[in-house]
Amino acid sequence: MTTRTTFLGLGAMGSALAAAALDAGRPSVVWNRTPGRARALGERGATVAETADKAITDDGVIVVCLFDHQSVRAVLDPFAADLAGRTVINLTTTTPNQARGLATWAAEHGITYLDGAIMAVPEMIGHPDAAVFYSGPEAAFEENRELFDLWGRSDYFGADPGMASLRDMAMLVGMYTMFAGFLHGAAMVGAAGVSAAEFARRQTPFLAAMTGQLAGLAATVDAEDYGGAGQQSLEFTEAALASLVTASLDQGVNVEVLRPVLDVVRRQIAAGYGGQGTARIFEELRKSR
Ligand code: NDP
Repeated sequence: MTTRTTFLGLGAMGSALAAAALDAGRPSVVWNRTPGRARALGERGATVAETADKAITDDGVIVVCLFDHQSVRAVLDPFAADLAGRTVINLTTTTPNQARGLATWAAEHGITYLDGAIMAVPEMIGHPDAAVFYSGPEAAFEENRELFDLWGRSDYFGADPGMASLRDMAMLVGMYTMFAGFLHGAAMVGAAGVSAAEFARRQTPFLAAMTGQLAGLAATVDAEDYGGAGQQSLEFTEAALASLVTASLDQGVNVEVLRPVLDVVRRQIAAGYGGQGTARIFEELRKSR
């Protein structure tokens, strides 16, 4: 029995994962749809498989890191029968329900399926500030822990295969809305001739300081105590956001990113909660519309 790890997908992320395994001395088989991308890993000692079916002939775990859910199905479906009894660790970004669907598909074919979500860019793989979230069978997580810890911190979120993805996606919402907010602000000052670089130098420490507010918001939400002392009221926030919209429009800046935040605040005020804390928009957001 070998302990080789198979890597399917050698894009920026798949290559980084395989490289970390090779650097740790783990025998690895690598495959990529476009063959040229495997060459560098081959020079570092990986066994390069010309086809996906040749890559999975060994008995080690199979790490999948492809573009999206559809590409995972395109690569794995033809070999479902051959994968029976094997462990597939899918680190491709999928939605929670796509991960659950893959787990169901795997179970139907006798495959052990662990889903993963990578909280890092490729350059961070192997560094302590990288994290990878996992969910699915705990035994599969524990058995492969040594491999996982080569990539960064390994966090396990339970048997529901969708939970790693859900955690990942919930965190990415914060990232993308922050990026959009930053770009909105850069457009505002940019209209007055200020460079985005100068703006970023001031915005970065401010946003970092503001993350200190998150724990307080979380405590309010968890306690469902939006009337507690010291909270910024919805009415106060409405006035602030209305000014931001006006100032943006005065600069000729599109308010498509900002406006929905004001709308959510206004809906809570219209529902009679204007004097309560702004964290109450959590109640508005968790309603299905
Ligand atoms: P790349 O675009 O660099 O690589 C995509 C990979 O998917 C390539 O190996 C590509 O093969 C392969 N691929 C795409 N479609 C198919 C298909 N139909 N059949 C077979 N292979 C296919 O992406 P990354 O490596 O950066 O990302 C991989 C996954 O990791 C994604 O799900 C991404 O969301 C996730 N991730 C990436 C992060 C990052 O910062 N890069 C951060 C966190 C997660 P080919 O070379 O032939 O095109």
